[in-house]
Amino acid sequence: MSLAHGRPYLAIPGPSVMPEEVLRAMHRSAPNIYEGDLVALTDSLIPDLRRVARTEHAATFYIGNGHAAWEAALANVVAPGDRVLVPATGRFGHGWGDMAAGLGCDVQVIDFGKRSPFDLNRIEDALRADTGHRIKAVLASHVDTSSSVLNDIAGLRAALDAAGHPALLMADCIASLGCDRFEMDAWGVDVMVAASQKGIMVPPGLGFVFFGPRAADARARMERVSRYWDWVPRANPEYFFQYSGGTAPTHHLYGLRAALDMIHAEGIEAIWARHDTLARAIWAACDAWGQGGPMELNIADVAHRSRAVTSLRIGAPHGTSLRKWTEHQAGVTLGIGLGMAEPGDPEWHGFFRIGHMGHVNAHMVMGALGAIQAGFVALDIPHGAGALDAAAAMMARG
Ligand SMILES: *Cc1c(COP(=O)(O)O)cnc(C)c1O
Repeated sequence: MSLAHGRPYLAIPGPSVMPEEVLRAMHRSAPNIYEGDLVALTDSLIPDLRRVARTEHAATFYIGNGHAAWEAALANVVAPGDRVLVPATGRFGHGWGDMAAGLGCDVQVIDFGKRSPFDLNRIEDALRADTGHRIKAVLASHVDTSSSVLNDIAGLRAALDAAGHPALLMADCIASLGCDRFEMDAWGVDVMVAASQKGIMVPPGLGFVFFGPRAADARARMERVSRYWDWVPRANPEYFFQYSGGTAPTHHLYGLRAALDMIHAEGIEAIWARHDTLARAIWAACDAWGQGGPMELNIADVAHRSRAVTSLRIGAPHGTSLRKWTEHQAGVTLGIGLGMAEPGDPEWHGFFRIGHMGHVNAHMVMGALGAIQAGFVALDIPHGAGALDAAAAMMARG
């Protein structure tokens, strides 16, 4: 017998749960892309995107996923032969660096492994060692979704300043935007990339690139930028099609309008607080389970844990068997462990992740935790007692 028939819950770190409001806004016939309400609606998105990113500067979008946003951002500020510095704290840090390598950059990686945040002193040392200022940009994951580490982006700005280094600070907020506090302007971030399908609650298909004046200057100094990735016409469109470099992502724009309305109605500070409490509830449950079994939070230091996703280590084969049980018996799909072991290695089955980004509330989190608890019991996986009580206590505290 399966108890999965009912509303399924995709608790993976993106794509995230889509609100009914977003789905309803997208459920319509094709709009006119030359005049009419879509044009005004798209104009209205830009200031609201800026508010989410906490920037006064340029906001652009591309039809594409997070990888497209990575490439779009790089294509505007680095040329073949330019050096970029990549402090990597998981699979996604390496991924952005690899994107830069594909564009012909000389990629200098500082690998902090899979369980630790940036060591800002080591980054500062690397910047100081670059006396000729060959490094044009530092590519930093705010949250690396594979390890679920949260990095200190304001601290990275301070490290750049302390080293007196002019490199652009580029932040990947694809997982964190709308989940973990992020202050683009106050933290001195020059370029920020995001995507629609995580904290922004819209299906995959939109990549966002935000950029400030120092990045605009770097773009102006580029010998050439591919027409499609060039952010200049997208940031200052004379014609509507220039926002998207062609046909607009029509339905995504309606969905995004609805999502931004929800975000601003709740308030970004309230959204960060909600993600914080829900994340603490999940961590409290995981700590309790870990007291009597193999489960362990991948990131030990609470201050460096993402509030959008939690990576867990539980030992093979429990990660995979638990995921299969919760999906097929309880209707809750958990995330695979990404980048922790090579697929094909038996160890690969010893990890999983809980996505808790975007349109997620207390009963969804309690439901997911309850399904995991039931899975432990059904599969005879050793675990400590009191996990659900610990999560409930955290939620009651607020
Ligand atoms: C999801 C994610 C990406 C990749 O986004 P895609 O839409 O899958 O291309 C990159 N970086 C981070 C931090 C992410 O969470």
